[in-house]
Amino acid sequence: MTLHIPFDNSYAALPDGFFTRLDPTPVAQPALIAFNQSLADQLGLTGTDDPRLAAIFGGNAVPDGAAPLAQLYAGHQFGQFNPQLGDGRAILLGETVGRDGMRRDIQLKGSGPTPYSRMGDGRAWLGPVLREYVVSEAMHALGVPTTRALAAVRSGEDIIRDTGPVPGAVLTRVAQSHIRVGTFQIFAARRDLGALQTLYDYTLARHYPDAKDPAELLQRVIERQAALVAQWMSLGFIHGVMNTDNCTLSGETIDYGPCAFMDAYDPETVFSSIDRFGRYGYAAQADIIVWNMAQLATALIPLMPEPEAAVEQFTAQVHAMPDLIRAEWERRFAAKIGISTPRPEDKTLIADLLTRMQAGRADFTNTFRALSDGTARDEFTDPAAFDDWQTGWQDRLANEPDPQALMRATNPAIIPRNHRVEEMIAAAVAGDDAPFHRLNAALATPFDDNPDTADLRRAPLPDEVVPATFCGT
Ligand code: AMP
Ligand code: MG
Repeated sequence: MTLHIPFDNSYAALPDGFFTRLDPTPVAQPALIAFNQSLADQLGLTGTDDPRLAAIFGGNAVPDGAAPLAQLYAGHQFGQFNPQLGDGRAILLGETVGRDGMRRDIQLKGSGPTPYSRMGDGRAWLGPVLREYVVSEAMHALGVPTTRALAAVRSGEDIIRDTGPVPGAVLTRVAQSHIRVGTFQIFAARRDLGALQTLYDYTLARHYPDAKDPAELLQRVIERQAALVAQWMSLGFIHGVMNTDNCTLSGETIDYGPCAFMDAYDPETVFSSIDRFGRYGYAAQADIIVWNMAQLATALIPLMPEPEAAVEQFTAQVHAMPDLIRAEWERRFAAKIGISTPRPEDKTLIADLLTRMQAGRADFTNTFRALSDGTARDEFTDPAAFDDWQTGWQDRLANEPDPQALMRATNPAIIPRNHRVEEMIAAAVAGDDAPFHRLNAALATPFDDNPDTADLRRAPLPDEVVPATFCGT
């Protein structure tokens, strides 16, 4: 069969200044590592038994109907404004409208240099490609809004990174769109009001068709991002590089670089080796997302008829965001301890547990999961600290309809632990993809107790902990 992707491209119809048209650069020997059949079905792809899948998703063959392009954007990286970034190693093939009516981008990442590559080679290596594949699909299975992984292909070429030569790879990513805060920032910084208005109109039509003005767009994005970051925190997820170019208007998680899930609970946890001051650490995410929304607000101001008044209005909207995050956080953490209708005093109960978890070096995922098994005390170095908390918790649960079911549907049994992700990457580099496939399969049903995956669920032993992650660049 011949692969058919029912492209329906809209970004490619925007003015020239939004992107550069170019094809992916072919790779030496594309070999398929993984293809996400269920996602392909959802997107309406047919003929997926085509032997050319590796060639297409490795960038060697451009499928019919594609309009390949590299998108332009800017962004604050670690707080510093970079007036021009753009897809330096990614190519948007085009969009499809899926069976659910949702328009989605299909993008290759690691597909060769573009005019926006700056000093980079336009390539990605196998490690970050497999990390993004596994973690983005795990996030989807956990119910988190996220970009998805459609395919991973080995390029058959070595590329050079700090540590020396490493195998190259290409990821095919699917997203509701790749419009970022940084996409608005580039046109605002250039004072290109026409382009800003065009981007605004496009974004509204694509993501928020019922929003009536930039203030409402801002509000809707603030709401989605507040919910998203609270959800990340409820799962122990640390994005690691929340630059404004890695922050979507759709509210999906995007750009899985040095991301990781924390093991033992510590709000100061930072994995990314380049995040030396913990700007994007676990608990800091709730502050940084507000800062990012302030940058979006700034970029939207020129679209308002009375900029002075807009500054006041947008400031109020951004200042109200921490309360939105807190409310989402409380709702999610209340559910984690079996409470379906939170009361104000539950905050204290949750905070008390977290304090004890931190002091007791308790594993974040396994402690919450064990609450519904009655084995949570074993997760603490001092189990008495848990017993002490448990009395008040049991009293609070007395009137809850079904706390066990709520907790089991809220607290995953398995997350992609960093040491298992690293182990999977090391195996793949050595040519063994079995751990990748096993991890991916185990993470597809994260709320099930599967005895076959006990080793993947177990917290790392002290000598297994992998405390640092590295950017994919
Ligand atoms: P990231 O940190 O992955 O979000 O990337 C930040 C910026 O650097 C984006 O504009 C990327 O396209 C660009 N970039 C990252 N890695 C490479 C690479 N290997 N070659 C060219 N550009 C890159
Ligand atoms: Mg990025």
